Amino acid sequence: MIEPHKPAPLKVMNDVRHSVQDASGPLNLSDAPDACEGNPVVVSVTCFAPEQLPEIIRTKGRRTGKALMTLAVGRVDALLNSTGCTYNADGNRIIVMSRETDPRLVYRIASVICAALAGEYVYADEVYNLRFCAGAAIARASGTPWGTVLAQAEQAMNEIPHGSTEPIRLYTEDSGVQEEQPLGKGDLQRALEHHELVLHYQPRIDLESGELKGMEALLRWDHPRLGRIMPGHFISLAEESGMIGHLGRWVLGEACRQARDWSVRMLKPFRMSVNVSAHQLQPELVEEVSAALQEHGLDGRFLELEITESVMVRNMTEAVPLLEAVKDYGVSISIDDFGRGYTSVRYLEAFPADCLKIDRSFLNRSLEQQQKIIPAIISLGRRFGLEIVGEGIETPDQLKLLRELECDTGQGFLFSRPIDSEAFELEYMPFTQA
Ligand code: C2E
Ligand code: MG
Ligand code: MG
Repeated sequence: MIEPHKPAPLKVMNDVRHSVQDASGPLNLSDAPDACEGNPVVVSVTCFAPEQLPEIIRTKGRRTGKALMTLAVGRVDALLNSTGCTYNADGNRIIVMSRETDPRLVYRIASVICAALAGEYVYADEVYNLRFCAGAAIARASGTPWGTVLAQAEQAMNEIPHGSTEPIRLYTEDSGVQEEQPLGKGDLQRALEHHELVLHYQPRIDLESGELKGMEALLRWDHPRLGRIMPGHFISLAEESGMIGHLGRWVLGEACRQARDWSVRMLKPFRMSVNVSAHQLQPELVEEVSAALQEHGLDGRFLELEITESVMVRNMTEAVPLLEAVKDYGVSISIDDFGRGYTSVRYLEAFPADCLKIDRSFLNRSLEQQQKIIPAIISLGRRFGLEIVGEGIETPDQLKLLRELECDTGQGFLFSRPIDSEAFELEYMPFTQA
């Protein structure tokens, strides 16, 4: 039986405890205003709420909503070890205060708490599957009124679109002007030099056995002022500004280093998947892959390059010989987001792919459509001898369908969101905690 991802308490929570206890006296919300106002210690405030709460209150009533929030507060308290900095505001938001003011750590703390909060809650014999989002704000100066910081955290949370793949948002004073002052090439150069880029990893699970088969490396940019920026917001900038080559090399090197490190410590190799953009499909790619494998001592069989279907179709003539050369190192190739565009069978025949990742949009269609389209994609992939991966598995029903259709492996929030290397180790490689 496949178990959905269960978050373990992270080391970072020690930092929360530490920062709360070591400051001038314990911090609790009853004296929260004093903690900010006139107190030399600046604080951060993070606000959490379940996406489904309005719907639950509408259909099951406020009492159920409040009861679920009480259960959720219990989970946060357990994680924070009752340091008294959790607060259930009006029964519809959980507020956590910390003395931490480093945006990256504030973000990570929010991720840990969100992961702990997500999942099943049972109340009055009914099961509720909750997904939380979080908004965080950091008091910029001592004396910032508590209410101001809380309002900023709430504003950040309210700006998260429903169903967003990134459920945590950090408030920044400049957030209003972000749109008019787009990031530029210089920002990306600085990001590389100042180590602001980080890889998160999403597990790929064998749908039959539930075992971890590999992981996909997904790039994030921890901007010191703007907080976390997702790849959808900067990959095209990197492509247009000519920085994608530098970024891609960094990703490849870092992913190979991490794959090798985990393989050695687990005494078992896992396949690391790396996304490759159209602009990286240049003759240099072959050399870059070979250099990354060699530098980090990784066997090419444990690296996979993901190329989106649209890239495959547009760059067929150049891509095929390049990817064949990459495959000479044992590296495998997967077609990402399959089905999003229009692929003719002719392309599949000529493309040197090993694996086909079904675009996650298919899992969001009606059951009737899913039952028509997904088996067709799977049988097409099978005909070409490809491993089939289901992307974006979020619910047990979606998982059940893919298992019935004998899809080989899968990724999705049901198992785990993409998480940083520390969280990945804690969840999947317990031996590393010694
Ligand atoms: P992708 O390669 O198709 O990656 C999967 C995306 O779906 C990730 O978004 C992941 O967080 C999200 N996802 C995974 N499971 C679920 C789920 O159950 N539900 C939902 N709603 N979403 C899920 P992310 O990390 O924002 O990446 C977006 C895209 O950015 C990636 O799509 C990939 O095309 C590109 N990208 C990410 N990292 C890199 C990189 O290092 N280089 C290049 N060139 N592109 C990258
Ligand atoms: Mg991908
Ligand atoms: Mg994809």
